[in-house]
Amino acid sequence: MYKPTLEYALQQDQEDKLSYLREQFHIPKDKEGNNWLYFTGNSLGLQPKRTQQYIQQELNDWAQYGVEGHFEGETPWLPYHEFLTEKMAKIVGAKPLEVVVMNTLTTNLHLLMVSFYQPTQKKYKIVIESDAFPSDRYAVQSQLKFHGFDVEEGLIEWKPREGEELLRIEDLEKIVEEQGDEIALLLIGGVNYYTGQYLDIKRIAKIGHAKNCIVGIDLAHGAGNISPELHDSGVDFAAWCTYKYLNSGPGSLAGLFVHEKHAYNKELPRFAGWWNHNKETRFNMRQPFDVMPGAEGWQLSNPPILSMAAIRASLDMFDEVGMEALRAKSEKLTGYFEYLISRIDTASIKIITPSNPKERGCQLSIQVKNADKSLHKKLTENNIITDWREPDVIRCAPVPMYNSFEDVFRMVEILKKLL
Ligand SMILES: *Cc1c(COP(=O)(O)O)cnc(C)c1O
Repeated sequence: MYKPTLEYALQQDQEDKLSYLREQFHIPKDKEGNNWLYFTGNSLGLQPKRTQQYIQQELNDWAQYGVEGHFEGETPWLPYHEFLTEKMAKIVGAKPLEVVVMNTLTTNLHLLMVSFYQPTQKKYKIVIESDAFPSDRYAVQSQLKFHGFDVEEGLIEWKPREGEELLRIEDLEKIVEEQGDEIALLLIGGVNYYTGQYLDIKRIAKIGHAKNCIVGIDLAHGAGNISPELHDSGVDFAAWCTYKYLNSGPGSLAGLFVHEKHAYNKELPRFAGWWNHNKETRFNMRQPFDVMPGAEGWQLSNPPILSMAAIRASLDMFDEVGMEALRAKSEKLTGYFEYLISRIDTASIKIITPSNPKERGCQLSIQVKNADKSLHKKLTENNIITDWREPDVIRCAPVPMYNSFEDVFRMVEILKKLL
């Protein structure tokens, strides 16, 4: 049904009910004022134009009210994170009780492991993907060390088979079947950052739970990209950043999910601060610690409001559009991207992302023969922003909120010439 012409691409943009959203973002430009073709929303999402206004409002309240801004103004700071919860929960398919915005992703993973990685001498190993994001790998290694275990022995890698790029769920099944009695935790990227593969997290939860392992999911590349249905999946916990597909700005705060089944368990070990203490008595100040139920019970500090304002701006956009419409466009847009690339007659590149739309988000990972990095450099010189990931992949993410069919068409035309 796709056609390899500019007319077709323009026609698709015209028929796209979400095309109006592009106007609501700042699209980066080169020195001559030409728009970049931006394909790195998987790394840093673009800035919604409304973000400035949301942050300005909090600056104004701070100027006008000082400390009273915690209670005054349209969006008082004391309950500010609550303004984000419901919309964030919708994006990841969770109940509001299960979600909170706080800290950064790697910090949240550590706080979650404080509670959910409770190794014994026999059951202490952790499973990650062999291509896990480095921060997740380091986090897990340091947790093993912290508990006094040997990192080499404690870390199990779920690897693609010889000659393959993608992970097979049967192989995880086999690992857990054979070594489950020694495994305490599976910590898996829901959408792998390198290949773009979207794993079946419900099935992963089943596999892990069958052997009494805790299952945690890193959704950095999933949140705002796919619909993970966290609650129904049954995973124990999850965390994700908001500066990738959730367009909330560099280094912005992260999301955290703890499944309802753990919401009222006050016995879980956890670190504490005044922000996970019962809201009702928090300011009585001399009370013994009384933990809040749900995901809020993992907060420690009062949060940076300016960063949360940017998240609120973005979540309002997601809420107006809905993940369902975004996913529908995304499947079509990435499908078109794949179609155009597959028509290029060359042996120098290969898409390693699954071709089944149910097994990927918007990103396509293009493997370059002989790890020739110069192709990425040439794309950049031609105003096409993608990213290179060692050893040999160019990651490209047409994002349904702001990328167009025309972007995709023009990108592939240039790619074709460069090849
Ligand atoms: C982006 C990303 C990170 C980054 O972690 P921060 O704590 O936000 O710096 C970690 N893990 C994965 C899987 C990521 O994609």
